[in-house]
Amino acid sequence: MRVGADLNNMREAWWVPTIDVAHPLVGVVPWQINGERSRPHCIMVNRSGRRFTNEAANYNAFGAAFHVLDVSSFTYVNHPAWMIFDQHYLTRYGLAGHRPDCPAPDCPAPDWMVRASTVAELADTVGIPAEVLKETVSRWNRHAAESCDPDFGRGDSVFDRWWGDPDFGDSAASTIGPLDTPPFYAVEVRSGTLGTKGGPRTDPDGCVLDVDGRVIPGLYAAGNAMASVMGMTYGGAGGTLGPALVFGYLAGRHSAGRVPTDHNGAGGKL
Ligand SMILES: Cc1cc2nc3c(=O)[nH]c(=O)nc-3n(C[C@H](O)[C@H](O)[C@H](O)COP(=O)(O)OP(=O)(O)OC[C@H]3O[C@@H](n4cnc5c(N)ncnc54)[C@H](O)[C@@H]3O)c2cc1C
Repeated sequence: MRVGADLNNMREAWWVPTIDVAHPLVGVVPWQINGERSRPHCIMVNRSGRRFTNEAANYNAFGAAFHVLDVSSFTYVNHPAWMIFDQHYLTRYGLAGHRPDCPAPDCPAPDWMVRASTVAELADTVGIPAEVLKETVSRWNRHAAESCDPDFGRGDSVFDRWWGDPDFGDSAASTIGPLDTPPFYAVEVRSGTLGTKGGPRTDPDGCVLDVDGRVIPGLYAAGNAMASVMGMTYGGAGGTLGPALVFGYLAGRHSAGRVPTDHNGAGGKL
């Protein structure tokens, strides 16, 4: 900034939903949930007890869903959220390294999971309006019987289905299933990040631009330190490492071209 670099994309990050998981050796660790929230028999709700997005959407897109603001109260309406799932989910998939090895209710749940025998009791325990959560779950279950999500389009895209349960192939059932097997569980979900994506604006060679759009000679940026060419979006697997490699290569090639060589091929000073 002191040499006049123009910054861009500073409100964005590589967002990812996370849960806090207690690990016996290292204490509480944030655990990113990707496949976990995309599998059948689980949904995500806000503190009003309502679903607010396609739970199987790409992790970066959740940044926008989590940061919806109520402009009267200046609170984030969807953050933190709750991941809600049933015993069928936990027995079949486990969560964050925990898989019950005996039948519920005898099998204890880890203390980072809230468990209750009914949806209403679960809502009361975590402070969500019980009637709303019951209606949310029964609406989800009605649609799950048809393997569709008219509310948020979960399971419509190849991306959603790929993250789901492969036993259901490339069908919406790979990510859509009812919450109908007690007991029921809730885990708090928060907005985490995989890294930054705001920084100096560059040209296609990774040269940093000043506030007038002119190249600042000899100054380059690539990877998470540059203003990402992705803006607020995510291009798919490798969406961060790919551009980082490409712009690192382009910046390196450009800076090498700037170095005058002597007759022995050794680089000189800029
Ligand atoms: C858990 C996790 C999973 C991920 N999974 C994927 C994935 O599957 N696919 C994908 O594409 N991306 C993934 N990413 C993102 C990807 O790893 C990062 O975007 C990428 O590593 C960023 O590379 P970088 O070189 O820009 O920054 P970094 O890898 O952070 O490198 C910056 C380096 O600079 C060093 N440094 C910092 N300050 C200084 C200083 N003052 N002087 C000298 N050195 C300094 C740091 O120590 C570090 O080594 C994941 C990230 C996380 C956290």
